[in-house]
Amino acid sequence: MKIRKLIAGNWKMNGSLAANAALLDGLLAGVGAAAAEVAVCVPAPYLAQVGARLQGSPIALGAQDVSAYAQGAYTGEVSAAMLQDFGVRYVLVGHSERRQYHGETDATVAAKARAALSAGIVPVVCIGETLVQRDAGQTEAVVGAQFAAVAEALGESIDGIVLAYEPVWAIGTGKTATPEQAQAVHAGLRARLRDAYPAAAGVRILYGGSMNAANAAELLAQPDIDGGLIGGASLKAPDFLTIVAAAQ
Ligand code: PEP
Repeated sequence: MKIRKLIAGNWKMNGSLAANAALLDGLLAGVGAAAAEVAVCVPAPYLAQVGARLQGSPIALGAQDVSAYAQGAYTGEVSAAMLQDFGVRYVLVGHSERRQYHGETDATVAAKARAALSAGIVPVVCIGETLVQRDAGQTEAVVGAQFAAVAEALGESIDGIVLAYEPVWAIGTGKTATPEQAQAVHAGLRARLRDAYPAAAGVRILYGGSMNAANAAELLAQPDIDGGLIGGASLKAPDFLTIVAAAQ
């Protein structure tokens, strides 16, 4: 089964009205009829600006987080229904920076994924091991447990997610998993998806972690790498577009 790849940019906490406008101009000028689906996950205050600019374009709007709660006394939170109001198609859930700096647990991540799905938004569920865990030979067990928490919470609706394997040691560090290292984890995740629910074998599994214009083609050529989640390189239009072009 040929899966259409997804290249998603994660702008993290970067940008300004002026910088976003310039970046979007560059992206829209060069994206053309990309073989891959393309998305940008932007800071919440810029959803309206970016959503308006992307209207009618081939680039989808994404957010970086969503509340597990539907509404009410959760100061500072943004609900899935609010994201839906702005035409958000994808939302990152459980990014390692949120797990690390905001105490998000597997249970929180699963609840957020469920909240997104119930609003018709595709959660991009991020999982990955730390360097200490990899060196201790725990990669498979760690990503397996992170995956299982989401699979148990979602049941058959697991087929509506995107999975992103992001080794924590590769995020923002310039260290990339080798294509073989990434492929090995992705193949394991594909098997877990199939075991959880046969229809979920077609769920896209993105790789994230210092993917850039120079290394994207080799990573994206692996049979179980169905796209990329791109941080730093998504802030430079030429680099991001090179990655998009590498996704066939
Ligand atoms: C990310 O933030 O998800 C990420 C992969 O960042 P970077 O590409 O900068 O490593």
